[in-house]
Amino acid sequence: MEYLPPYFFGIAAFIFGLLIGSFLNVVIYRLPLGESIVLPASHCPACDAAISWYDNIPVVSYAILRARCRSCRARISPIYPAVELLVACLYVLLFIIHRDQISTGSWLPLLADIVFVSLIVPLVFIDLRYKLLPNAITYPGLALLLMLRALAPDPWILAHTPNLFGLGGAPIWARSFFGSLLGAAIGGGSLWLVREVYYRLRHVEGMGLGDVKMMLMVGAFLGWQLTLLTIFIGSLLGSLIGIFLILLRGGSMKMQIPFGVFLGPAAIIALLVGQPLIVWYVGMYR
Ligand SMILES: [Zn+2]
Repeated sequence: MEYLPPYFFGIAAFIFGLLIGSFLNVVIYRLPLGESIVLPASHCPACDAAISWYDNIPVVSYAILRARCRSCRARISPIYPAVELLVACLYVLLFIIHRDQISTGSWLPLLADIVFVSLIVPLVFIDLRYKLLPNAITYPGLALLLMLRALAPDPWILAHTPNLFGLGGAPIWARSFFGSLLGAAIGGGSLWLVREVYYRLRHVEGMGLGDVKMMLMVGAFLGWQLTLLTIFIGSLLGSLIGIFLILLRGGSMKMQIPFGVFLGPAAIIALLVGQPLIVWYVGMYR
């Protein structure tokens, strides 16, 4: 790859991100409605007119059409280009983080991270829109991420997995898989515990099982340390934005805020900067 300049791959990652982001928009829009994500081809949700390929180019078409459908002039939600740009930027960041590994020919860790953010982004936007975290994403997501952790062992997870059941001598994939299972147990377990305590105290469901399943998935990929960091950042974000909304709208503390909307960004923050953050934090107490 020495014959191609690094920015070539950066641009490729951006364009690939735009295309996957465009597909994730279809998932976000159709999955909760029980529609197929493959067929029919894109159509305007207002007038049902088919959208031609040249009106379906990520971000570009939105700008050219000035956010309106060509047939009925209905407004197109800015969420569509926002998701495309967000995914594209995340792919570029991941590419930059993994560039040293890539130069040694190791593409799997980058691919694994790309799969992870591509599962998290639709969960966040579906939760925001429908207050729902579909099993159709969390179940296969959990299986896929457990498998990826066995295939692409993460040095950080390996280094922080306790040597239980004499696993120290086990092959690297088995130790990584165990670290992944432990992360899932801690992630899903903590949220399940919070849910139970809340239910016993208030006798209403404060949190859906979807959040528990989402954190099983996040835990399987990030390992137990970054998973606890995710829950911490997610709770912090949720509280800050919750307080802000209450002040703004004068709502009550009972106002329902979907937790997945905060856990998702928190998981991505933990993925991108969690390791240096934990090293810095632990270092303060040395
Ligand atoms: Zn239309």
